[in-house]
Amino acid sequence: MTVLPARVLIVEDEEKVAQFIKKGLETQPFAADIALDGQEGKDRIDRQAYDLAILDVNLPLVDGLELCAYVRQKQPQMPVLMLTALGTTADKLAGFDAGADDYLVKPFDFMELLARVRALLKRSQRQADDAEVLRVADLELNLQSKEARRGGAEIKLTAREYTLLEYLMRNQGRVVSRVDIAENVWDIGFDTGTNYVDVYINYLRTKIDKNAPVKLIHTVVGLGYMMKEK
Ligand code: CA
Repeated sequence: MTVLPARVLIVEDEEKVAQFIKKGLETQPFAADIALDGQEGKDRIDRQAYDLAILDVNLPLVDGLELCAYVRQKQPQMPVLMLTALGTTADKLAGFDAGADDYLVKPFDFMELLARVRALLKRSQRQADDAEVLRVADLELNLQSKEARRGGAEIKLTAREYTLLEYLMRNQGRVVSRVDIAENVWDIGFDTGTNYVDVYINYLRTKIDKNAPVKLIHTVVGLGYMMKEK
């Protein structure tokens, strides 16, 4: 079974700081993406599921507190660590009001950041384990037993099909591109010309959608795929 590395979004307009955090996290190993302003951060959150977000408070276009509130609305389970140069109580309270899970004052030591990131991921992982089952309409995926069921009937999946289905279900309601799928399910970047992803999508469609009146795996022409009920 492929284990997806924890994926962290860093939204920080000081590029040096952003790269410093990304490089540090990638030695751990986590996967990390950088957005250099609040709007780019929003766009990334719309496009893909993250396991954790690190948000600077003072950001161009959309500030960190507003972005944090947006994360809470879009991906309520995602832990948020706020970064700020200002360490006053009022700022901390504003961050927690916006839904931040933790707070780190700049300048910080990387090991301190890493400790906070690990603690937040551990906490959210425990909550995810409690949830155990992903659902889209009458399709269920049990993350512990690795069983898939549609309308109560068991669906046999290969290891790769399971990982692909988990990725699609975790991103339900969002368009995922072939490149997103290749990077997250196969752990490597694929030439977009290859139809490998499409082949596996077809395997899943045959098993999940073929005999069901409501199709759950949708093709979004020119963009990729989306899992949703309607
Ligand atoms: Ca800043």
